[in-house]
Amino acid sequence: MIIVTNYDLVENPKLGVFVRSMEQIPCPCCGSRLHVIGSRQRKFLTSESQCNILVIRRLKCSYCNRIHHELPDILVPYKRYASEAIEPVVAEDPNLSVAVDESTITRWRQWFAERAEHMAGCLESIRMRYGIGSVEGPPAPSLSVLQRIWHYVGNAPAWLARVVRPIANTNQWLHTRSAYCPN
Ligand SMILES: [Zn+2]
Repeated sequence: MIIVTNYDLVENPKLGVFVRSMEQIPCPCCGSRLHVIGSRQRKFLTSESQCNILVIRRLKCSYCNRIHHELPDILVPYKRYASEAIEPVVAEDPNLSVAVDESTITRWRQWFAERAEHMAGCLESIRMRYGIGSVEGPPAPSLSVLQRIWHYVGNAPAWLARVVRPIANTNQWLHTRSAYCPN
């Protein structure tokens, strides 16, 4: 799984909306070059619960042979809803207007609560290794985990996309406990 930020969405009336990436992200597992081997459909739901179909590329690493799907940053890996639907829910935005039921809201908040520490830790290690994000030092320990995440990516809209991209592209995005590339 890799995440691209720089892309066009090109509509094909029969097949769906193609994600035409303008980025070349290296393999998250080994850093080698990825090449395109095909595409597949990826459904997602907007915050109005409208279903859309994207056509995303399947990429294969020239060195380790692992296959990665290339997601535009409007999506969160393994989530059916778009990032813009999930973001205000997990931030507990008081002006929430998302067309999902209470159980979905509870599930997303639980999902975020379980992973937020991991996300903050990844952002901190990525900042140290690559200098991405905030140029300031580590956040104050008294801050909440969400505030610590915002310390690195800011709290302007699309903050969740800014969290997902560096973590997924360095192979640290959690799905299950075994989601890492095996060594
Ligand atoms: Zn590789």
